[in-house]
Amino acid sequence: MAKQPVKKKPANNKNRSNNRNNNRNNNFTPRPRVEYPKEITYSLPITIGELAELMKRNSSEIIKFLFLLGNMSTINTSLSDEEIELICEEFKVVATKEFIVDEDDIEEQIANRVFEEKDLQPRPPVVTIMGHVDHGKTTLLDTIRNAHVVKGEFGGITQHIGAYQASVNDRKVTFLDTPGHEAFTAMRARGAQITDIVVLIVAADDGVMPQTKESIDHAKAAGVPIVVAVNKIDKAGANPDRVMSELANEGVMPEEWGGDTIFNMISARSGEGVDDLLESLLLVADMQELKANPDVCASGTVVEAKLDKGRGPVATLLVQQGTLHSGDSLVVGSSYGRIRKMTSDKGMELKNAGPSTPVEIIGLNEVPKAGDVFMVYDSYKKAAEIAQRRMNKQIELERSQSSARSLEDMARMISEGDMQEINILIKSDVQGSAEAMKASIEKLNVDTVKVNVIRSTVGTITESDIMLASASNAIIYGFNIRPTAAVRKKAEEEGVEIRLHNIIYKALEEIESLMKGLLAPVFEEVVTGQAEVRQIYKASKVGTIAGSYITDGVIKRDSSVRLIRDGIVVYTGKLGSLRRFENDAKEVSQGFECGLTIENYNDIKVGDVIEAFEDREVKNDA
Ligand code: GDP
Repeated sequence: MAKQPVKKKPANNKNRSNNRNNNRNNNFTPRPRVEYPKEITYSLPITIGELAELMKRNSSEIIKFLFLLGNMSTINTSLSDEEIELICEEFKVVATKEFIVDEDDIEEQIANRVFEEKDLQPRPPVVTIMGHVDHGKTTLLDTIRNAHVVKGEFGGITQHIGAYQASVNDRKVTFLDTPGHEAFTAMRARGAQITDIVVLIVAADDGVMPQTKESIDHAKAAGVPIVVAVNKIDKAGANPDRVMSELANEGVMPEEWGGDTIFNMISARSGEGVDDLLESLLLVADMQELKANPDVCASGTVVEAKLDKGRGPVATLLVQQGTLHSGDSLVVGSSYGRIRKMTSDKGMELKNAGPSTPVEIIGLNEVPKAGDVFMVYDSYKKAAEIAQRRMNKQIELERSQSSARSLEDMARMISEGDMQEINILIKSDVQGSAEAMKASIEKLNVDTVKVNVIRSTVGTITESDIMLASASNAIIYGFNIRPTAAVRKKAEEEGVEIRLHNIIYKALEEIESLMKGLLAPVFEEVVTGQAEVRQIYKASKVGTIAGSYITDGVIKRDSSVRLIRDGIVVYTGKLGSLRRFENDAKEVSQGFECGLTIENYNDIKVGDVIEAFEDREVKNDA
């Protein structure tokens, strides 16, 4: 907001009144003068032209003033609050910023719903079970579902609607029953965080495995507390102590060892220890003081949605605030409707559903997406109008959206002060470089920007990495590894930037300049194509010839290439030759076969991937 300028009495005040008098009495025609307003009210976004109009000034005056400050601008340049403050000080205007609530932005409205403490009541915690495959997620979900049916719902037929409620000591706990972290990250990637507690399940006969680590990363990145369930303690090979120390090594420290994570020894199959696990969930929930206001119109998030042949769009909603009623009109993502029927996870028809209750509803015009928010309106017409406008905006957004999270965008946001944290995921061919990179990054220090390494592991980039990066707004740094075409495509879809390097200090330089809001690499490597080696011929003169099939893009005779085996770069160099049907070829494109050799390198094997790349100059305008 603009500061109050020093108020000076306008020097020509007197003349002005004289003029007016003269005008009336003496038929004197003065030069028309502009009355500059002393106060204006503005809202962002605003351009120089628009501000000039409010101030009744000529745009060129503002452009000139900004120019003298060293900013080049035009009538269409958008202004920041700080610039407006400077301009208003210069032109002696008091500016008041008005916040305009966008009626269509229900995400923003939901995020800003504020209630008085006296209206809040405790609500059940929402729990997601995560862990490595086969460690017992589904079994645990089923055991809890069957043994802890909410009172009064006996006899209902269990429906898989994506979430259910269990009863523990007369209190309820809501479980999201899509096990694994796909649902969790998919939701977070869409901005929805509905989980209050993560149950990390680890089989006592297997210990910490890759997906266990991923689950920890996901929960930590989301800032959600973890409760550990050491499962399968009934099995002969069970070694709970080993699980405890392995988890402690991953930064999940048991309470018994001075940490803050509750560990439960359970058998999901027999049910042993499951009650204690549920009680520890209530304990963690109490510490979080989870509350909501049940007495307002409902809002919440879509857990699952599908098109049912007979019933039309069906959505499972998790009520997060207020109480949802059968018959309510609502906007869900960019769909809308009136709830024709609302059912519980036991298939019972419901009239009302309060906070943390999952319900299945029908009556929407279209199928929303998991992670979409919903909000109830008092009129059907209003819900329809808002949804229609949201749909139009969505279409526009999809059209304009390219790589929203490019390095250049980030650098710009940092230099404008709109970004204070950079999240990074590191993947590398060997443990050493992942660790070295992580340690060096953590030492980088720039006052205004913090860098968090949210995952650092060995191996090539996977779809799960992309989802974590997408959910956490992170950049992925890869060392000596190459993602597959499918993973690249996923990254593109999710708007995740992948930076591939062979030299750690180069990556560090890049991150450091990014932290200073400077970045724009002068040269950027562009992958032009990939080929798969299908046959090998050994020729005594030319060395190993790789009979290859171009799976993607184009490979050129003068390309730089790297040889990738199981996602790891084994060699980087130049092509020695490129041939099609015994003839030299300048380039070979996707869908065609070719024979190629790599200069000074013969250890090519069937199944290897050859990636062609070139360095291209990129504009440096950050
Ligand atoms: P998920 O992939 O994590 O969902 O794992 P599942 O729940 O499908 O379990 C994998 C296998 O482990 C199944 O054969 C289960 O019956 C078995 N299992 C799960 N929990 C236990 C347990 O507590 N004890 C024993 N012995 N087996 C279990």
